Amino acid sequence: MPKRIVIAIDGPASSGKGTVARAVARSLGFAYIDTGAMYRCVALLASRAGLSLSDADGLSQLTDRLRFEFVWLGGMLSIVVNGEDLSDAIRFESVGRGASNVAVHAQVRSALVLRQRAMADEGGVVMDGRDIGSVVLPDAALKIYLDASVDVRAKRRHQELIQKGQSIPLETIRAQVSERDQQDRERTESPLVQVDDAVYLDTSALSPQQAAQIIIDLAWERA
Ligand code: C5P
Repeated sequence: MPKRIVIAIDGPASSGKGTVARAVARSLGFAYIDTGAMYRCVALLASRAGLSLSDADGLSQLTDRLRFEFVWLGGMLSIVVNGEDLSDAIRFESVGRGASNVAVHAQVRSALVLRQRAMADEGGVVMDGRDIGSVVLPDAALKIYLDASVDVRAKRRHQELIQKGQSIPLETIRAQVSERDQQDRERTESPLVQVDDAVYLDTSALSPQQAAQIIIDLAWERA
């Protein structure tokens, strides 16, 4: 890659952002920043500390004390917060819902956005989330809006959870995914939107490798 550009990938829950973004980053030799994981860590640590997820001041003080590191461990990307690897603990659907609840608070968002921008400062980064192209990195050279039908997304999530030994009925997952999307789209602070300069990519009928290749080709064009 001649130029270490910044790639922003946004989209709803289970649209394949993580898998695709990771594959793109690996192929280009870029860093991958999973911003959803950061909101999930705030939600998890708040619950552990007995904080209410509606206590904006408490959550923002907690967030200010957190040091985030993304570390490759044995081929897997881990998120380490204040020295503790939280990668597995944040992958429960309940933590995803908690993340969506902490993500409505402007103070929490602004603290995380500052760190996310610092992580992308030197370029050569693929960052995924809900507000990356709209708020965090509005000047990103390539913006992607990754989508898939709600049925496909619920099925993917269902499969993922089965592989982790969590058995939740598909219908329950579908309802949870829809509810989380609605909250993320309708909140006042940095809602999930497709910005005008984003490339829309529907992954319903694509494999993660196919979706990643489309983005890699676009990255080469933009760079
Ligand atoms: O992407 P993931 O499902 O891990 O994100 C968990 C939650 O974190 C989302 O439902 C959303 O509410 C929040 N989030 C956000 N902004 C981001 C990334 C995630 O509000 N950039």
